[in-house]
Amino acid sequence: MEQYVPQQADIVIIGGGIVGTSVAYHLARRGATNVVLLERRQLTCGTTWHAAGLVGQLRATLNLTRLAKYTTELYRGLEAETGQATGFRQTGSLAVAASAGRFEELRRGASMARSFGLEVDVLTPAEAQSVWPLISIEDVVGAVWLPKDGRTNPIDTTQALARGARSRGVRIIENCRVTGIEVEDGRVTGVRHAGGAVRAPVVVNCGGMWARDIAGWVDATVPLHAAEHFYIVTEPMAGLSPGMPVLRDADGCSYFKEDTGKLLVGWFEPKAKPWGMDGIPESFCFETLPEDLAHIEPLFAAAIRRVPALEQAGVQVFFNGPESFTPDDRYLLGEQPEVRGLFVAAGFNSIGIQSAGGAGKVLADWILDGHAPMDLWDVDVRRVAPFQRNRSYLHDRTEESLGLLYAMHWPFRQAASARGVRKSALHDRLRERGACFGEVLGYERPNWFAPAGVAPEYRYSYGRQNWFEYSQQEHRAVREQVGLFDQSSFAKFVVQGRDAERALNRLCAADVAVAPGRIVYTQWLNERGGIEADLTVTRESEERFLVVSACATQTRDFAWLTRNIAPQAHASACDVSSAYAVLGLMGPNSRALLQSLTDADLSTAAFPFATSQIIDLGYARVRASRITYVGELGYELYVPTEFVQGVFDALAGAGGAHGLKLCGYHAMNSLRIEKAYRHWGHDVGEEDTPLEAGLGFAVNFAKSGGFIGLEALLRQKEQGVRRRLVNFRLEADDPLLYHNEPIWRSGRIVGRLTSGMFGHTVGRPLGLGYVENDGELVTDEWVLGGDYQLEVAAARLPATAALKPFYDPRSLRVKA
Ligand SMILES: Cc1cc2nc3c(=O)[nH]c(=O)nc-3n(C[C@H](O)[C@H](O)[C@H](O)COP(=O)(O)OP(=O)(O)OC[C@H]3O[C@@H](n4cnc5c(N)ncnc54)[C@H](O)[C@@H]3O)c2cc1C
Repeated sequence: MEQYVPQQADIVIIGGGIVGTSVAYHLARRGATNVVLLERRQLTCGTTWHAAGLVGQLRATLNLTRLAKYTTELYRGLEAETGQATGFRQTGSLAVAASAGRFEELRRGASMARSFGLEVDVLTPAEAQSVWPLISIEDVVGAVWLPKDGRTNPIDTTQALARGARSRGVRIIENCRVTGIEVEDGRVTGVRHAGGAVRAPVVVNCGGMWARDIAGWVDATVPLHAAEHFYIVTEPMAGLSPGMPVLRDADGCSYFKEDTGKLLVGWFEPKAKPWGMDGIPESFCFETLPEDLAHIEPLFAAAIRRVPALEQAGVQVFFNGPESFTPDDRYLLGEQPEVRGLFVAAGFNSIGIQSAGGAGKVLADWILDGHAPMDLWDVDVRRVAPFQRNRSYLHDRTEESLGLLYAMHWPFRQAASARGVRKSALHDRLRERGACFGEVLGYERPNWFAPAGVAPEYRYSYGRQNWFEYSQQEHRAVREQVGLFDQSSFAKFVVQGRDAERALNRLCAADVAVAPGRIVYTQWLNERGGIEADLTVTRESEERFLVVSACATQTRDFAWLTRNIAPQAHASACDVSSAYAVLGLMGPNSRALLQSLTDADLSTAAFPFATSQIIDLGYARVRASRITYVGELGYELYVPTEFVQGVFDALAGAGGAHGLKLCGYHAMNSLRIEKAYRHWGHDVGEEDTPLEAGLGFAVNFAKSGGFIGLEALLRQKEQGVRRRLVNFRLEADDPLLYHNEPIWRSGRIVGRLTSGMFGHTVGRPLGLGYVENDGELVTDEWVLGGDYQLEVAAARLPATAALKPFYDPRSLRVKA
């Protein structure tokens, strides 16, 4: 092993677990060889060495499944490439379902995975038993078989990645602890270590469970927390054979792996044990944590129910080791918004071995190309917020998040732990009126309202959940009378200064050089024409603009905004999200209700669509913006936070006469999908251009000075689009659509849904999804000339495709 630590490198990687070595390997494969990996002790000595080594491919989302699939392909060829044995075997894996809901989850996942070429079969209980003869199938409803899943030896695989990196010139230095990160003018310039420093414009934090504290050195947010993670290994057992598939029994929280004639059984228990509350000891190296037999006893009993032969088997090893978990069970990847050039790949939630190949590859591309090679929003570190570094929050959420990996991933499922972190000023008023809250980035938002006598609690299923009819009534109120939404969680930024217009116009695909009081719906694009953000910009005055975006993208959008304002520009951006509450007053009676509380002239002549004014309302002065995400006449009211309770009381007091109803986000989703309004992160993202997404109307190709992404968009305009977002309606009113359902056109899969919801006015499940035509142009005729089906849980169901919204296609109601 080399001991000489260079003083300069192009890229420094902190941490030599499987993730750090994979990043190094993939950088080297792309030709970046002036790379130094610093490991404080020995390679794999953190979490990697003791992993069970399962390498599965089926993940919750399409792109994460793609990356896991890549990992198996990489590991399969690594030994031949590097000469270092990896222990990788493609044994296949079997996942059994012990309830109808679980079986639907597995089949929906299988439909999604099969649509892009992952081999996966749905099995009967008897077929499952023929694959894994030792299981009891008494309670098994069905199973899914993935023949290309496998298992690997984590230490050997890490060594193979390290060898592949070294052979291409990467320096891997052990026993060299990084002690600090150097930053100048918001940009990383290198690292300090015990024996000196390495200058480098890029630093990658692959510090595993130490990564949160490493990021904390430079005030960057990497929210993860370690937890104890358990498995046992039996004495040799009869009936096991080498090359047996991995078995997963999520309903029993267990997984099983044959291990040289013994059985390794591991668990994802519902209540985990967070570990390392006072920081991870510096001395930690190939260590284990104390056994806790009482903790695993009920889990062991469940494992015996699935594999009865376990009861007779002696246990050779009780293993307990730490692994890091994130608040949403997805790993953290990408460039930190706080510090340019500082990247992270950490928080792997017990799937770091199977994720390392894909994560290492895309992060290497991201570093070298300056942007992610595919839409990685699911794992992008810009999805988190600074409060998530709070240790109490992380501790409490980690108790739950470990178990959630094997829990049912019900649609609309809400976390039960660490709730009530961020609340709107109306929270208590809404709770008293029956709000059932859902959480986005810690923010409690009403998803639906329970009528008197009904508990505001979810009862989950894949079908119509307990709130379906209440949400339907909210939907109707908005279409027929008036509904009130608390949208205070919106992200809000003020951009001001002499150059504010110019700065924003470079970012926005629409023209924001409009008169004060105008609202502009626009996208922010990257150089490739992909949609980085989808938002509104309101010109408040000559030199002041209000940018409004979604709660979930607050960190990301603010980072994009501030990074793209030229340093010499006389324009500053300020996040004012907490300063304003937002009330959405939506529906045909919204004008009359608002008019009853203000002297301002609300007639369309005085207050047309897409304009904004400051008006008196109750005792407050509020910004009323005539805009909508639900497709009706309506106003978003921006109210300084301390005034909003008074404004709410005034609206609620006057509302009865106009049929006012409190409404939640589930109703909003149903309303917006009928209008085919896009949702960033689902229907539009950084890989989708406005032309593909049907948002060409919002682009101003002719405005002076252009905008980021214009050239790419002009090229695409000239050549035509090869994929397009289309609206779908299921012909039957059941089953419900969520997202990821494959789209079949005339007998071939042409795409997948990006979002789905029941449209209560249309009376059918609706979806949006991109379709492709084998690389050819996607014309109106081609879209409308097909015969469509949507695949739900392995069944194909007739559907209608449309390019116009299913509700009010001419938007007459919005402009009323
Ligand atoms: C019991 C158990 C079973 C598991 N089973 C599986 C499985 O079957 N399949 C699967 O996919 N995953 C599994 N995992 C998860 C998997 O082991 C982890 O996700 C993965 O190893 C994480 O790798 P890493 O490189 O991020 O972290 P680590 O392996 O912890 O690597 C981080 C490295 O950074 C180094 N470091 C920290 N600070 C510094 C510093 N200041 N300077 C230099 N170096 C530093 C550490 O020494 C360490 O070597 C399991 C985990 C456990 C605990």
